[in-house]
Amino acid sequence: MVFLSSKRIILAPVDISTDLLKGEIVRKLKIIFQREVVIEKKRLNIDNFYDPVREQYNSTEILKYFIFNHPAEPDEKVCLIVPYDLFIPILTFVFGEAHLNGNYSIVSIYRLKESFYGKECNEALLKKRLLKEIVHELGHTFGLTHCIDNKCVMFNSYNVNDTDAKFEYFCDSCFEKLDKVL
Ligand SMILES: [Zn+2]
Ligand SMILES: [Zn+2]
Repeated sequence: MVFLSSKRIILAPVDISTDLLKGEIVRKLKIIFQREVVIEKKRLNIDNFYDPVREQYNSTEILKYFIFNHPAEPDEKVCLIVPYDLFIPILTFVFGEAHLNGNYSIVSIYRLKESFYGKECNEALLKKRLLKEIVHELGHTFGLTHCIDNKCVMFNSYNVNDTDAKFEYFCDSCFEKLDKVL
């Protein structure tokens, strides 16, 4: 699939192998968002975002850092993919966060891995979950808010079972909203 527009999605792994994103995830994102999807590794001094009391990383501060220091082009939507456990102050953890109607979003694979729950590694399941969380956070960057339909990708996952129960696609109502801005 070749897109002529300059609109694109940048998947930006930080301390994560690009192999996780290549293939299926890139291919599906192209179809869902109808634009070019590229992988660009990013560097980040993650220690600056560590909260020693919570033993987690502040996703809001990471997003702010990128928005101010590495502003994206207006046509670009960037999704940082990190291996760190993320939080925002009012929640115990987050799978990801996004700048609503902005250019930057972030997703963590930390709690998407079966090993976090004491189970055996399952790369296929990890990729499925990761795709859903990437689509969800990118949806926010396109202005979508949370959806009450628990099968819709814009449903807010409170735990990994919620992520497993939803699809990587938008419900009709969310798709209509998205379609207007794509
Ligand atoms: Zn959300
Ligand atoms: Zn929806």
